[in-house]
Amino acid sequence: VLAIPAAVYMLQEQEAHAAELERTFIAIKPDGVQRGLIAEVISRFERKGFKLVAIKIVVPSKDFAQKHYHDLKERPFFNGLCDFLSSGPVVAMVWEGEGVIRYGRKLIGATDPQKSEPGTIRGDLAVIVGRNIIHGSDGPETAKDEIALWFKPEELVKYTSNAEKWIYG
Ligand code: ADP
Repeated sequence: VLAIPAAVYMLQEQEAHAAELERTFIAIKPDGVQRGLIAEVISRFERKGFKLVAIKIVVPSKDFAQKHYHDLKERPFFNGLCDFLSSGPVVAMVWEGEGVIRYGRKLIGATDPQKSEPGTIRGDLAVIVGRNIIHGSDGPETAKDEIALWFKPEELVKYTSNAEKWIYG
């Protein structure tokens, strides 16, 4: 008699939990793709316990790269950065999980790989700021905007991973 309400309660908890999960936009830039680091980057997010909900490989146009980096348009490196982002395939992804925006940035490391801690993606795998392998949204607003720029809503896959109950309890 007690088991049924408990099960229903757990289901509601899970659904509420799923609805709250945060999302971030992560991209493996052309240097990461060409260097064969796609699986390495994905593996770090996956092993942490974050969930991949969208992925594609694309060569962005320069115009698209300028849209993506519009916040940096006054910076001296803006043109070179947009040329670089549009120079080859980029792996665009959306990852989901509690605190994924902020913690994703920790997994990535500081913008300049010389200042990134060992153990981070840029710290372990990159050497200079202009070739730092990966992009990650820097806050909730940019995450929302970047996900909308790179993906159509229907490209985001909603699913429950079997691991979730072990990751979140
Ligand atoms: P992040 O990617 O860590 O969020 P920014 O948004 O400040 O960093 O910069 C976006 C990207 O521009 C960086 O990832 C890097 O590839 C490039 N970039 C930043 N600063 C420089 C610089 N001084 N010279 C060349 N490229 C830079």
